[in-house]
Amino acid sequence: MTTTFDQLGLSQPVLQALDMKGYSTPTPIQEQAIPPVLEGRDLLGIAQTGTGKTAAFMLPSIDRLREADNQIPFKSCRMLVLAPTRELAGQIAQSAKDYGALAGLKVHSIVGGTSVNKDRNKLHRGCDILVATPGRLLDLIDQKAFNLNGLEVLVLDEADQMLDLGFIHALRKIRELAPDDRQTLFFSATMPKQIKELVSGYCNNPVQVSVTPAASTAERIDQYLFMVQQDEKQSLLELILSERHQVPGKFERVLIFTRTKHGADRVVKKLSQCGIPANAIHGNKSQPQRQRALDEFKRAKTPILVATDVAARGIDIPGVSHVINYELPNVPEQYVHRIGRTARAGKDGVAIAFCAEDERAYLKDIRKQTDAEFERLPLPDNFRAVVEGVGPTKPAPKQQRQRVKPKPASRGGGGPSGKKPAPKHTNRKGKPQGKPGGGGNRGRGGPGGGGRRRSGGNRGPRAANG
Ligand code: AMP
Repeated sequence: MTTTFDQLGLSQPVLQALDMKGYSTPTPIQEQAIPPVLEGRDLLGIAQTGTGKTAAFMLPSIDRLREADNQIPFKSCRMLVLAPTRELAGQIAQSAKDYGALAGLKVHSIVGGTSVNKDRNKLHRGCDILVATPGRLLDLIDQKAFNLNGLEVLVLDEADQMLDLGFIHALRKIRELAPDDRQTLFFSATMPKQIKELVSGYCNNPVQVSVTPAASTAERIDQYLFMVQQDEKQSLLELILSERHQVPGKFERVLIFTRTKHGADRVVKKLSQCGIPANAIHGNKSQPQRQRALDEFKRAKTPILVATDVAARGIDIPGVSHVINYELPNVPEQYVHRIGRTARAGKDGVAIAFCAEDERAYLKDIRKQTDAEFERLPLPDNFRAVVEGVGPTKPAPKQQRQRVKPKPASRGGGGPSGKKPAPKHTNRKGKPQGKPGGGGNRGRGGPGGGGRRRSGGNRGPRAANG
């Protein structure tokens, strides 16, 4: 029988907020994590974004904060959520506001790249829930503008990514400053040795829940592969985006990954020279630029976003129909994170990989270490002509470029926001038929489906021994 949210022991205000969000069934991580967190247990969650883990830690924590009903501490907070990137911090803060809409809790977020003075003023009177990136938090602590004395719940989200970004010292320091009698909820998509060490420093006998193997590609994502030379990738991308070469699925929002910031900028520039508007999001962009790119992507005003791994990690935007790996990642797990940006919240998604000769080793690793199954697609018939400069996507010569008009969205079957007919020979899912290695329909489920239920144990609230 399916579990419902009210069977998990959540309060009425939280259940009502879930109702307003339209969530009826808990995801596997929510089902497993909510009861022990409500009991006050520490938790170790091995899960990626897209599994519903934000609600898994936020919902029971909101209830515990309400129940304890402690005063907001001066220059401190009652619950602290640490996140690796500004974007993820922003999303978590928004979720806290949505889920806690009826609980009357004060939520703030502080991230790097914004005014530190504003943050100082904002935090002066404290808050119930603070979502922060570790660097900015420590800045404010060092300036004596903030402390962790009032902390009741500490959440580390995407801990492995925080380590990748060099936050290990910050995390060690925060652990020393946090009061011992707090509850700790620790989330990581992967469990390398350093993370295990951090877990044992942060958590006290945590309940462990794991919803997907560390490196497995989502079930609802159809994965395609083009073998293409590095210097021909841009032409292929332009052909795909202008739909002169049809790929499966209807374009809604297309997220393109490059390995470097410079590479992302180059792709955007070249696309715009062909009249295909796109934005880039990476660490060299200012916070307002990043926010604007995300907003335009969300609203599908500019439905093509070119991103580096770090900037895109944790981004949760419903309706990403396609992820294009313009360059393959050198770490197989990164491939899993990338393509996990599509097929969110129960939808299907398409992932397309461009693999050049010198990336074959990366492809091999991805195949070996994840369960990725690729269906190889042929290069378009007119590809050679396009690459050699006689085809239609060749950029206009420099002096004429300003006269190239953006392509209307619906032309030739539609741009990323337009409608697109199914490929010529397709099956019901819109996949081309008769190609080797077709993955077929790989099952369905809620976000992050596939988790097993495990009993959380009933060992009572954590003792004050940190
Ligand atoms: P997260 O893993 O926290 O980034 O969540 C992934 C996405 O799933 C977000 O868009 C959530 O709003 C959505 N979500 C979380 N819990 C549920 C649920 N129980 N039912 C449907 N969607 C959900």
